[in-house]
Amino acid sequence: MAVRQPLIAGNWKMNLNHFEGISLTQKIAFSLPEKYFAKVEVAVIPPFTDIRSVQTLIDGDKLLLKHGAQDLSPHESGAYTGEVSGAMLAKLGCTYVIVGHSERRQYHAEDDDLVNKKVRAALKHGLTPILCVGEPLEVREAGGHVAHGRAQLIAALKGLKAEQVAQVVVAYEPVWAIGTGRVATPADAQEVCGELRAAITEKYGAEVGGTVRVLYGGSVKSGNIGELIAQADVDGALVGGASLDGDEFAKLCALA
Ligand code: PEP
Repeated sequence: MAVRQPLIAGNWKMNLNHFEGISLTQKIAFSLPEKYFAKVEVAVIPPFTDIRSVQTLIDGDKLLLKHGAQDLSPHESGAYTGEVSGAMLAKLGCTYVIVGHSERRQYHAEDDDLVNKKVRAALKHGLTPILCVGEPLEVREAGGHVAHGRAQLIAALKGLKAEQVAQVVVAYEPVWAIGTGRVATPADAQEVCGELRAAITEKYGAEVGGTVRVLYGGSVKSGNIGELIAQADVDGALVGGASLDGDEFAKLCALA
């Protein structure tokens, strides 16, 4: 069975200017012992405006953190005002890019087709997409959460080869748990993360299914990371609110 290195990624959303971003990155890096980073991968995902500063700090001080972006354009270049391409992010040393976050789907009308194009754009430029899927509350209450997650996942991976799918990180983020303080139970997280892995195994084979990292996201903090990451199919977390406080985020990482 593949050994999957846990990943804890902090999505800062539209918070922190580049000075604040530098100081948070330093705080996280220096709060964790060097040997920790051999075990768990930690990534900061700042707003676009902070990425160059964070990259300079990480490269200059040889910090063991990774960094990424919160979104990318499906296009290569050209007349797309306000967009940022995969090539630009790769040049900024990004390892990761979040794709299909529920806030993009909800506030920017991103559908499965666009998410699929963004996943392809990321892979084309050597970026690892953190592909977010997850159901709104009414779908969960109607018992449709597994089918919803599987459908979003399969649509986002459409047309990819198995070896490309193996490079994707999947994040199960139930919409009702994001920023609400209402975390999924460990059993709920395991159920859907396990089903997402099963969907990948069914379509792309056991090796790919066993390789892909599946994260849970939604109100993760130091007080609940331990029981979530103890689940067989939860390989880490995508963290929003709790990633903005250096002490709390470092504590959360240390418990992962
Ligand atoms: C997120 O936005 O990806 C997220 C999980 O947010 P929070 O941890 O604040 O719920």
